[in-house]
Amino acid sequence: MRKTILGTCCAALAVLLVGLWATGVTRVLPVAAAPPTPRIHVMLLTGESGGAYHNWQATTPALKKILDDAGIFDVDVVTAPAPATPTTVLTDFHPDWSAYQAIVMNYDAPDERWPDSLKQSFETYMHNGGGLVTVHASDNAFPGWKAFNEMIGVGGWRGRNQAAGPHWFYKDGKLTSDDSPGNAGRHGRRIPFLMTVRDANSPIMRGLPPTWMHQGDELYADLRGPGQNMTILATAYSDPANSGTGDDEPMLMELTYGKGRIFHSTLGHDVMALSSVDEVVTLQRGTEWAATGKVTLPVPKAFPNANTVAYRTDIAALDPNYSKGLNPLDTSSSFGRGRRGLRGGRGAPAGRDGAAPGR
Ligand code: ZN
Repeated sequence: MRKTILGTCCAALAVLLVGLWATGVTRVLPVAAAPPTPRIHVMLLTGESGGAYHNWQATTPALKKILDDAGIFDVDVVTAPAPATPTTVLTDFHPDWSAYQAIVMNYDAPDERWPDSLKQSFETYMHNGGGLVTVHASDNAFPGWKAFNEMIGVGGWRGRNQAAGPHWFYKDGKLTSDDSPGNAGRHGRRIPFLMTVRDANSPIMRGLPPTWMHQGDELYADLRGPGQNMTILATAYSDPANSGTGDDEPMLMELTYGKGRIFHSTLGHDVMALSSVDEVVTLQRGTEWAATGKVTLPVPKAFPNANTVAYRTDIAALDPNYSKGLNPLDTSSSFGRGRRGLRGGRGAPAGRDGAAPGR
């Protein structure tokens, strides 16, 4: 009996020890497993555009989805306060740049919107190794802010002209520039167009086809600026038959500013344009590069080629009017007249009139 009790106690102790050991092993396992890769902190900055033709309230959720879908970013949407008047200065806006590895701008404001202290804080962030991604009309912002124009390389509208710098473009396969007088910024009707890679060795471009079709979008042309520390990754032909320059215009660029990195995409006028698979992929990869200097994100098999456009229906569906049917592309009959009544119809005037609406 005594022996049996002792035996029972020993057995119980053994079970307890095994349980403790097992518990210990269980607790140790997470430490032994490979640590999760830390996510890249990204600020998606929005809150203002040059006009209703750039509907930041609609495009920001699309950009958020594009970044979230990459699976490597933690994205905070930061909405700058709405200006009470056209000349409002945002003295109470103090975004914490340093908490983020990249700032993705879906934001277009005039020079006076940010006080000097805010501009200085952003310059310091970038100079010390920050990351910046500018989407479409974000390169219209801040025409008189010297450092911002150095970051983006080229920009358009908001009164930019030859004083901003030369027009940069490709001619006969070579980067060239033209400093003759003229306003900066033009585009034609939104139609699909062919993209051509100019630097296949960039981490952002590696693995992409040499040419592909981009979904209907504004093809920015005549952009001007200092163009320093700028590598043009892809161009598109600006067709004179569609109010273009006859040159191969820069569409995707990478730049440096101090220790900072900038990815500049002129693409993405609206949700439909953002849904183009090439825009999704280059924005994701460009943001990773701006934040880390490297690109690990793969190129999907569904990437468009020289004969096909490809767009993401789940992103296109974020267009508030998507359920009414496919967003119609601009037509010559409605182009440049505001196109009231046609959804998505914010066709911009062409020519060199920087004051014209529709960028
Ligand atoms: Zn636009």
